[in-house]
Amino acid sequence: MLKLNSDSPGTTTLQHLATQQATIDALPVGQRPAMAETLWDAKNNIGSGGKTAFAEIKQTLLEMCVGTELCNYCESNEASDIEHIYPKSFFPERAFTWLNYLLACKTCNTHYKLDKFAVFTPALSANATTMQRKKVPTSTDAAFIDPRVEDPLVFLALNFTNQSFFLEPCPNLTDPRDIAKATHTLNVLQIGKRAALAAARKAAFRFFQSRLERYRDVRDSTTLADLERLVEDPDLVDTANTFAAEQQQMLTALQQSILSHAHPTVWREMQRQRLSLPKTNTLFAAVPEALAWQ
Ligand SMILES: [Zn+2]
Repeated sequence: MLKLNSDSPGTTTLQHLATQQATIDALPVGQRPAMAETLWDAKNNIGSGGKTAFAEIKQTLLEMCVGTELCNYCESNEASDIEHIYPKSFFPERAFTWLNYLLACKTCNTHYKLDKFAVFTPALSANATTMQRKKVPTSTDAAFIDPRVEDPLVFLALNFTNQSFFLEPCPNLTDPRDIAKATHTLNVLQIGKRAALAAARKAAFRFFQSRLERYRDVRDSTTLADLERLVEDPDLVDTANTFAAEQQQMLTALQQSILSHAHPTVWREMQRQRLSLPKTNTLFAAVPEALAWQ
């Protein structure tokens, strides 16, 4: 999980959100969750602007996704659902809040996260509690990483030991609140040790290594014949092109293939933890510019 780039829909859409939110906030506290649910279910049919506003919200969130429109939690599946980071059933005052949205896949949204969330009770303590459905939150101090405003890699780290590829609390955390936040986020989302995710991260690791090797070899080539030997299909090399132009085109394509691939957390962790990954470290030493690719 990575921090999302900041972006925003236009002022008309933000105003539409503010209007819906004001309707909820005007009600007594006990009535707000039901109204949030009702307005959310009808969000594409509210007034003349609802459909347009949510089309723009979805499009903006798609452009903020990791990989090519992938779920921001698992980084594996297609991003499909507008997910409330703070569940609207517990926090109706954030139901129509732009900063509370990200795109997640159906599996993460409807099978794992649902209405689950965790808060510190009392606020500012280190005592984290997972919240139960239909209960009023005991605090608004989230024990859950918010990737719209926080960098998840401060709290989480990929474990390359024994090739587990598990996502775990960062081993250098010392603040009990940070440890609790990492642990509860993993408990809620179940993205740490799902077998399919660990296997996919391992495959991504191999992919990133092989792309870096190819990048190094293309960069070190000196003739079109060298380039033809490096690609699976020699017809992909346009021999009518100059060597320099063809080489640059291949280098750009290789960089893009890394940056648009699933599981970008694996790539970021290869950069961060390279000193304990000998082969990866050697590749980054040969292609130092790749340390800045994000
Ligand atoms: Zn997902």
